[in-house]
Amino acid sequence: MLNIAIAGNPNSGKTTLFNYLTGSKQKVGNWPGVTVERKEGLYIKDSQINFIDLPGIYSLSPYSPEEVVSREYIINEKPDAIINIIDSTNFERNLYLSTQLIETNTPLILALNMSDILKDKIDTKKLSAIFGCPVVEISALKTEGIEELVEIAKNHKQLPNKLDFFESDVKQALVHIKKTIMIKDLQHRDWYSLKLLENDEKVLKHLDISQKDQKFISDLRNKLETAYDEDIRGLIINQIYNFITQLKQDVVVLAKRKPSTTDKIDRIVTNKWLAFPILAMIMFSMYYFTISSVGGFITGWLEEVFFPIIISGPVEAFLINNNVSIILQSLILDGIIGGVGAILGFVPQIMILFFFISILEDLGYMSRIAFMLDKLFRFFGLSGTSVIPMIIGTGCSVPGIMATRTIKDEGNRKLTIMLTPFIICSAKLPIFVLLIGVFFPGNAWMLTAFYFLGIFMILLSGLFLSQFKAFKSSSASFIMELPDYRRPKLLDSLKSSIENGWSFIKNAGTIIFVAAGIVWFLSAFNFRLQFVSIDNSMLQSLGSFISPIFKPLGFGNWQSTVATMTGFLAKETLVSTFGVLAGSESNVSLATYLPTILNQAGALSMMVFTVFAAPCFAAIAATKREMVTWKWTFIAIGYQTGLAYILSFIVYNLVNLIS
Ligand code: GDP
Ligand code: MG
Repeated sequence: MLNIAIAGNPNSGKTTLFNYLTGSKQKVGNWPGVTVERKEGLYIKDSQINFIDLPGIYSLSPYSPEEVVSREYIINEKPDAIINIIDSTNFERNLYLSTQLIETNTPLILALNMSDILKDKIDTKKLSAIFGCPVVEISALKTEGIEELVEIAKNHKQLPNKLDFFESDVKQALVHIKKTIMIKDLQHRDWYSLKLLENDEKVLKHLDISQKDQKFISDLRNKLETAYDEDIRGLIINQIYNFITQLKQDVVVLAKRKPSTTDKIDRIVTNKWLAFPILAMIMFSMYYFTISSVGGFITGWLEEVFFPIIISGPVEAFLINNNVSIILQSLILDGIIGGVGAILGFVPQIMILFFFISILEDLGYMSRIAFMLDKLFRFFGLSGTSVIPMIIGTGCSVPGIMATRTIKDEGNRKLTIMLTPFIICSAKLPIFVLLIGVFFPGNAWMLTAFYFLGIFMILLSGLFLSQFKAFKSSSASFIMELPDYRRPKLLDSLKSSIENGWSFIKNAGTIIFVAAGIVWFLSAFNFRLQFVSIDNSMLQSLGSFISPIFKPLGFGNWQSTVATMTGFLAKETLVSTFGVLAGSESNVSLATYLPTILNQAGALSMMVFTVFAAPCFAAIAATKREMVTWKWTFIAIGYQTGLAYILSFIVYNLVNLIS
């Protein structure tokens, strides 16, 4: 019996080939321990040949269960041969896996699929000579060349060539490892050496490498990383890609092609000079519509007309006319309508933002943003995929945090969940507008400065936190296909906008609503449960009790503390709490009231604190949902609040020192 594995990238045509080869005689199950599908089947024309359909993969790195399953099968179960099916219209990306398969030192046959639609000419003889393995052009769809492929695979025993992917210093390191470390599995000695150099934990464990040898290997690795100023996986991937690029020039004769519409658009949109101005313009218009013009208008109308005049007014009149007790009035007006208002006030902006984001996604522009910013963000320990949650986070951190689900890399995902709230969301905006207006009139530029402070700290935190293992990104390169530009489907975008608005109401809404109820209760009653004004309430006592914590930050009075605490409900509640306090304490406007409890340094420090401190309850709940464990939720909140505290402390004392 011959075991022949079929390996290839997703969408390279494996299933089409496998189905043709095995007909209906397939055994389908799972690979042990994982949910990845395992399919085998006997060749229709010769039951002595058993085909194993490996899952679709881009590499043999241990980052996804598919990759682990595939490489463990190849290394441990040693198939007689591997047919590597290649989408020849995507030569470079597909060849990366081939280079990894070569390293496993297993008889290999390259099947160049999609030959029916390939316009380029591939010099199969040359390719075959370089790889030291047969190369067959096939079309799985048109079932061309397949019999020949099987015939060759059946008799192919020869091992592929050892290829020179690497620069001499990497090669030397590999030779050192091979000579020094006892690796019993001779067939895979080269593969194991490379994986040891890459610090592949699964292999370290499997081979049971001694402490001393690990030190030897990591010294070699460190030397290379210093020499190239790059992480080992990155430099290995780069050298392999250099090899492939060169190979492509040698064996592929590109057909003349008319640039597609996508190519034409990309020439402008991803152009070296134009890309960032265009990105900035698109982002700016999106926010302009979402926050200032349309969204701002609707939200403003809800907050200034709909709730107070259309809803509250008549309800209040009704309650008074019916002699409803003052407590119930307060509960209904301040608690329920206020709470619902706080939630619904955001919904229009969130819906509009998601409408635009969905359009950008449909267009194919979102993946280009991620692609363009990938290199920059990677430098700071994040990745291009972190950008999208952060863009969404400008509207609201809750959907921003939810959007991290698209990030595959666990470390990167955690980091992004934690840092997304540093982007000033639309709920935090009124706080800045208020404090800048009162304490720094005419200095609207400060708002922009706070945005940049947030982004700056995201990058700095990324640089710092990615040094820890839990946040380290393990995928070194951005293997992502840029989709063709497509006409967006407005109806789908509308649907996505409604779905996200609704999901916000459901998820964040319930929390805000409950929390608003609790704050109403604390602010309306004293400890003897008598109905009182806010400055005699439980909230006041609580604020006085906690306020010493904020003393060193310059806003350690009970009023600011209470405002900060209610800010956890929904950030803009901080503003309305100040409003309530100003009214009930001294019946003056906020502009006269605030300077009696804060000075400029304190206001500045409060704004810095607002940028970074743990987000509102709704965002904390979203963090918990995405982080799954409480441990990671607390780490995130702790980091955010700790950083906020330290920075505010520095700012407050520095400003005091200077002035
Ligand atoms: P897998 O993900 O590797 O299993 O790929 P599939 O077998 O599902 O094929 C992906 C897509 O490519 C399907 O739409 C196939 O019809 C198409 N396809 C597969 N082989 C060929 C081929 O030789 N020529 C063309 N034109 N399309 C193919
Ligand atoms: Mg498939």
